Amino acid sequence: MTHPPLHSLVSSPERQRAARRWPALLAGSALAMGLAGSAHALTFTVTFGTQGGVISEANKDVITNALSFYSSTFTDPINVALEFHNDTAVYGQSSFSYYAPSYSDFRDKLLVDATSTNDAIALTKSVQVGALAPVGSSSTIGLKTANARAIGLNLAPATTGGKCFTGMFDGCIGLNFDVFGSNAITTAVAQHEINEVLGLGSGLPKSTSLPWVGDLFRWQSVGVRSFSTNPGVPNTPCDAGTPAAYFSIDGGTTLLNQFNNCTNGGDYGDWISHNPSQVQDAFGSGGAMTRGGTETVALDVIGYTLAAAVPEPDSWALMLTGLGATAWAARRRQRG
Ligand SMILES: [Zn+2]
Repeated sequence: MTHPPLHSLVSSPERQRAARRWPALLAGSALAMGLAGSAHALTFTVTFGTQGGVISEANKDVITNALSFYSSTFTDPINVALEFHNDTAVYGQSSFSYYAPSYSDFRDKLLVDATSTNDAIALTKSVQVGALAPVGSSSTIGLKTANARAIGLNLAPATTGGKCFTGMFDGCIGLNFDVFGSNAITTAVAQHEINEVLGLGSGLPKSTSLPWVGDLFRWQSVGVRSFSTNPGVPNTPCDAGTPAAYFSIDGGTTLLNQFNNCTNGGDYGDWISHNPSQVQDAFGSGGAMTRGGTETVALDVIGYTLAAAVPEPDSWALMLTGLGATAWAARRRQRG
């Protein structure tokens, strides 16, 4: 696709302030990371922007570790270009670009890309065949650049501006290192924003005529989709908001999580609050990505390909016991 993206937008539950301008001399530093030795892994090229101050090595390590989850969990042979910078005005904030390809083209690609059991369920129950998207009756669907490449639609990273270090990125992420430092909270907030750059999120409340890919899994109840706003109360979780919106891949039968479906300052595509916090909670800054978590299920069904499961802990113990026995036997042979 050669036309420019529809939107380069900022998503954040937190207040913002005017971007500060820094001389072009303060260039970011880029590095590529991925799983060495893995034939297919989702990889990242990371630029650490200096416009919010230099990011310490310890904080860079937090980001690297946060990203390693994705490289070990997903096998899409694509590289995602990300910019990270310090931003003391927010907890976390992401900017990304999205396009609006036809829904049927998107679905064709998603079908070819499908590998998991959840992919098969999703294509049958939530991402049905049709000229129009089954949510919002739109002939097009909002699709972010990284998500597009994950399913084989060649949409390149786009220019980002504003608070972002100027360059071509799939996403730009501001994190408040001053408040959180190098700890698990930074990991959770970073992964929340990474998920949004990779494709999680809702077109709501602004984009009521163009659903985003994540909105295909937004259900009120069995067979009843949810794609409308409700007023909500600022800074108050909207668990009881009307209409409710649940994350479900099987048409609302199994409700895997609940979206923050009201105008309370949080993202409509985030979860309601949980105790303990989950990564995609609109309010709260805890949790961590896991292979079985609902954020990972969501990334799977929008087009990211899960790596083969690693053996269960019991199998590992067996394998280690076996290796130990072999080593012991080898020593015995040498001595004998
Ligand atoms: Zn969010």
